[in-house]
Amino acid sequence: MELLKQAIIEQGRVLDENILKVDSFLTHQIDPSLMNEIGKHVAETYKDKGVTKIVTIESSGIAPAVFIGLHMGLPVVFARKQKSLTMNSELLTSEVYSFTKQVTNTIAISNKYLEEGDNVLVVDDFLANGQAALGLIELCKQAGATIEAISIVIEKSFQDGRQLLEEKGYVVDSLARVNSLKNNKIEFID
Ligand code: 5GP
Repeated sequence: MELLKQAIIEQGRVLDENILKVDSFLTHQIDPSLMNEIGKHVAETYKDKGVTKIVTIESSGIAPAVFIGLHMGLPVVFARKQKSLTMNSELLTSEVYSFTKQVTNTIAISNKYLEEGDNVLVVDDFLANGQAALGLIELCKQAGATIEAISIVIEKSFQDGRQLLEEKGYVVDSLARVNSLKNNKIEFID
């Protein structure tokens, strides 16, 4: 998606050869008009696929997910990250190792908001090693929901998330695919 690539080029900062900072439009400050274009774009791709729900993870997946949900006319559910969980039979839970924070979080969604029969579009801001996406997939499985695809805003294609997810049979659909962050330079695939 050209508009997104342009924002990444103009505003993205390479922290090291593995981490891209996009806190001026996606992960801290949010650019609603770019999110709106992302929402339109993704909604157009999935409009006839029978998706019933958008599922993401707090916090940076929420902005793109909400705009996708808006343009598809679908509810958006975000998994909460929790350090400790009191036993609660309503909660679907899984463990996610965070690439950026290097901690393991339990993530949870209430079984009120993710159910058997749902066909889910999983959304996240970044795809690195695929752990967040796998955690969300696990919650969908526990609910008995199916997964239409994994929709990612920025994929770091030099990390192994896409391969891991594709090997498990999931469709990965990324709006921008970053091939390399070496030498302080952002290179895209295509
Ligand atoms: P994964 O679970 O695929 O290893 O990593 C994805 C998660 O880590 C995303 O939800 C995102 O919050 C965070 N993340 C991974 N790589 C980056 C990065 O380069 N920049 C930022 N801002 N977040 C990242």
